[in-house]
Amino acid sequence: MGKTIIISNRLPLQINITENNDLEVTPSVGGLATGLKSFHEEGDSIWIGWTGIAEEDIIPELREDIDREVKNQSCVPVSLTSEEIEKFYYGFSNRTIWPLFHYFMEFTEFDPDHWEAYKKVNEKYAEAVIDRLDDDDVVWVHDYQLLLLPEYIRRKKPNVTIGFFNHIPFPSSEVFRTLPWREEILRGMLGADLIGFHTYEYERHFLRSVNRILRYDINFNSVNIGNRIVRSDSFPMGIDYKKFYQSAKEHKNQPRSENSDIQKKLDYHKYVTRNTKLILSIDRLDYTKGIANRIRAFGYFLEKYPEYQEKVRLIMLAVPSRTNVPQYQLLKKEIDELVGRINGQFATINWTPIWYFYRSMPFENLIDLYSSSDVALITPTRDGMNLVAKEYVATRTDQTGVLILSEMAGAAHELNEALIINPNNFEQIVDTMKMALEMPKEEQIRRNKVLQKRLKRYNVERWAKDFMKSLKETRTSRTSFKSIALTDNIKKDLFDKYSAAQNRIMFLDYDGTLRKFVDKPEDAHPDPELLELVTRLGEQKNNRVILISGRDKETLGTWWKNVPVELIAEHGVWNRPANGEWELTENLNNSWMTTVRPVLETFVDRTPGTFIEEKNFSLAWHYRKANPELGEVRANELSAVLMDMISNHGLSVLQGNKVLEIKNSGVNKGKAANKRLVEKYDFIFAIGDDWTDEYLFRELPDQTVSVKVGRNKTEAKYFIEDVDEVRELLREFSSLTY
Ligand code: UDP
Repeated sequence: MGKTIIISNRLPLQINITENNDLEVTPSVGGLATGLKSFHEEGDSIWIGWTGIAEEDIIPELREDIDREVKNQSCVPVSLTSEEIEKFYYGFSNRTIWPLFHYFMEFTEFDPDHWEAYKKVNEKYAEAVIDRLDDDDVVWVHDYQLLLLPEYIRRKKPNVTIGFFNHIPFPSSEVFRTLPWREEILRGMLGADLIGFHTYEYERHFLRSVNRILRYDINFNSVNIGNRIVRSDSFPMGIDYKKFYQSAKEHKNQPRSENSDIQKKLDYHKYVTRNTKLILSIDRLDYTKGIANRIRAFGYFLEKYPEYQEKVRLIMLAVPSRTNVPQYQLLKKEIDELVGRINGQFATINWTPIWYFYRSMPFENLIDLYSSSDVALITPTRDGMNLVAKEYVATRTDQTGVLILSEMAGAAHELNEALIINPNNFEQIVDTMKMALEMPKEEQIRRNKVLQKRLKRYNVERWAKDFMKSLKETRTSRTSFKSIALTDNIKKDLFDKYSAAQNRIMFLDYDGTLRKFVDKPEDAHPDPELLELVTRLGEQKNNRVILISGRDKETLGTWWKNVPVELIAEHGVWNRPANGEWELTENLNNSWMTTVRPVLETFVDRTPGTFIEEKNFSLAWHYRKANPELGEVRANELSAVLMDMISNHGLSVLQGNKVLEIKNSGVNKGKAANKRLVEKYDFIFAIGDDWTDEYLFRELPDQTVSVKVGRNKTEAKYFIEDVDEVRELLREFSSLTY
C-alpha cells in the first residue's frame, strides 16, 4: 500500500503575511481540515492545495519560508495567480457551480472564459499530483472546485485508486443539465473509483444525471462506464465531537475570571434580564443560508407573539465570505438594512432584538455562543451538510437546548430529533420558534441525548475512515475481477496457437461484438468492412466460423446472404450452414405468443420509445430508446409480470442489453454451440458481449478461448474493451498465414 494524497482547493493551514512581512502560519479550523487531520498526521500522506496567497503577493524573500513551513506539515503548495483566483475560484467555482448546485439558477453565470480557467487550474492541480504519484497510492480529491481533477489524474495514471468527495449538494438532473459543460463535469467526476456525497438524495441526483446525460448504465449505486465500474455512496460528514464537547465542558468549569469578554457580556445579560432567552444563528454570509429570511421571520415572530418582545434576543454571527462576488456584497447590504429595520422597529431602552456580528470568531468564542444559547435557529434554503447544527448539539453538555433546522440542510437527514422546518414557511418557522422557547427541559434532554449519541458515534474521523475503507475496497473488487485483459503478450500466444491449429471453430456474437449498438436494431446491418473481414476469416483454411445471434433468421439471412459462414439465429433455434438453407434445429411451438404479445403491447403503450420485435420462436421487448430510468423500472416490472405468466410453460425470460426476450427454455447459445462440436477442434474461440453469451462461455469446453467485450461480470477467460478492439483482433486472425 502506497501513500495517501489528499487534494483540496485550500491547504489545511492558513498563511498570513503580516505588515512587517513576517509569516504567520496557523492550522485551518474547518471541518475538512480537522476531519482528515488524524489521517494526515498518522499515516504516510501528503496534502496538496493552494496556500491562500496569490502568486504575485508572495515576496521573493518569503518564498523559501513558505515552502519550508508547508513542507513541515507534509503539504505541497499549488500556486495560483490573481487572475486564476479571480476566474477559477471566484468565477467558475463560485459564480457557476456553487449557485447552480444550490439551486440558485438566477445567480448562475455561464462564462466560457471562467470555464477555460477552471479547466486550466484543474490541470495545474493534476500536474502537482502526478509529479508525486505512485501507482499504489490512494488519491482523495475534495469538493466542487476540483470536479475535473479525478479524470485528469486518471488520464495520466489509469491504474491509480482515486476517491472524490462532493461537499456541497448535487442538484436534480433537471437543474444540472442546464450547465453547458455538463458532460465534461460528469466525466471529470467519473475519473474516480468512488464518489462520495453527504446524502443519498445528492447521490441519486448524480446517478440520474450520469444516466440521462451520458447514458451510462446504473446498477444500484455503480456506474458502468465500459472499461471501469465507478461506485457512488453517501457518507454524511460528522464533526470532531470530542473537541466540541470537551471544550464546552472545560469552558463551563473554568473560573469566571478566565472567561472571554463575550462570555462575560452574555452572563451579564442573563443576570440582569432573567427569564429572557437567546436564539443563536451562525453562518458564513451566503445567500444559500437563508439569513435574510431568518431575520424577517424573527421580526414576524415578535409581531405574532408580542409577549416575547424584550424576552428573547437573536444573536447573529455572519462570517464574511467571497466578498469579491457581487451577490455577496448585495446580500451584506440587505442584511445590514434588515437588522437595522427590525432593531429600529422593536427596540426598547432595555432591549435590542438582534445582536449582529459581521466577522469570524475564534473557536473559544464559538463555544461561548453555542453553550450560552437556548435555541439554535439554522434555516438555510440549501446546504450540503451544515456543521454548525451539529456543533451546537455537541456543546450542550447538560443536554438542554433546542435545535431548529431547515429540512434543506444535508444534516436534517441525520438529525431527526431536531425541530425540522421548511425555510420558506414563515408560519411554521415562527410557531416552531415558540415551541422551541417553550419546550420542557425533559423533552430537550430526550431529543439531545439521541442526537449526541449519533454525532459522537459517526464523528468526522469515522467519516474519513469509512470513505477510505470503501475506496480501498474498490481496489480489491477491481483486482478480484477474474477475467483478464487480452494484452499484447496474451494475444501473441493466441496467434501462435491459432496459426498452429489444424481445425478451428469460432463462435462470434453479432450485436455489441462485431457491430456497435444503434438506436434501431434494423439499422445495425454489417458494414462492407465487416462483411469483408468475416468473409476472409470464413475462407481461411481449417476455419469454421459461426455467427451466433439472438436475431431472427430473416434479418441474419439477408445481411449475410452470400457470406460463407454458418449462422445460428434466435439463440439456437435456426441454423444455416455456410452455403445452405435455414434448418429448424429445435422442435418448438409458439402458441404461447398470442397470450404474451398483448402484455408486451401494454408495456409499449405505457413506455414511450419501446417496441416489440417478433421472431419466429421468441418475442423481444426493446427499450434502448426509452428514458433510461423508466426503461429499467418497466423492464423489472415486465419481467416480474412475465415470470408469473410463463412459469410451467417451458418458457424463460432473457435479460439482454436493453432488451427482454421471451423464448422457449432450453434454447440458448451454449447448447447450440455445443451441438456444433461433433468433430475434434484444436482451437475453439467464442466472443460475445452480453448475458446471452455467458451461456457460450459457460458451456463450451475448458480449452475454449472465451472473450467478453466490455468489463461486465463474466465467466469468459479474457475481456477486451469494445467493438473496435474486436475487429482489430479478428483482422489479425484473418491475416495470419501458415
Ligand atoms: N466557524 C468558524 N468561525 C466562525 C464561524 C463559524 O470557524 O466565526 C466554523 C463553524 O464552526 C463550522 C464552519 O465554520 O465548522 C461552518 O461550516 P458549515 O458546514 O456550517 O457551513 P459552510 O461554511 O461550510 O457552508
